[in-house]
Amino acid sequence: MSQAPFWPVATDAMIADTTHLTAEETGAYFLLLMSLWNNEDRTLIINFKELAKVTRLTRIRFEKVWTNISYLFEVKEGKFTHIDFYVNSKHKRYISPEVRAFIFTRDDGCCVYCGDKDIEFHIDHIHPVVLGGDNSPDNLALACAPCNLSKGAKTLKEWLGG
Ligand SMILES: [Zn+2]
Repeated sequence: MSQAPFWPVATDAMIADTTHLTAEETGAYFLLLMSLWNNEDRTLIINFKELAKVTRLTRIRFEKVWTNISYLFEVKEGKFTHIDFYVNSKHKRYISPEVRAFIFTRDDGCCVYCGDKDIEFHIDHIHPVVLGGDNSPDNLALACAPCNLSKGAKTLKEWLGG
């Protein structure tokens, strides 16, 4: 008997990074994750026919969905795996209280995107963590919860343009 599969997941990060996906895309993403975590080497082979079955989509539908979710995986040599970001995301996303205070003061206590004040503030990663953005103050901005959740894992350009 092999060990039961265990999927370490930072649920808050996953929700934040999938807010821009449709229900179909999110469903396919989760099915792929569960399926690859069931494999001993934590990978799936990129075979659209098989992956369409895993995600319960037609092949044509799957190819459409895949173009929107593939960036959430690490693709290598015809296989893909769970981006290790989520495993360590608590650590990678950790912003010290000092840096938070600095960002709050620098951005005048206003959401940099809509200018709102006196609301629940988030610290937005301007270049998303999932795309390699870091925790340097240059990459951080004060944002209200609605703006931050709407921007999700999009780049500024994608968010404003879309
Ligand atoms: Zn805002």
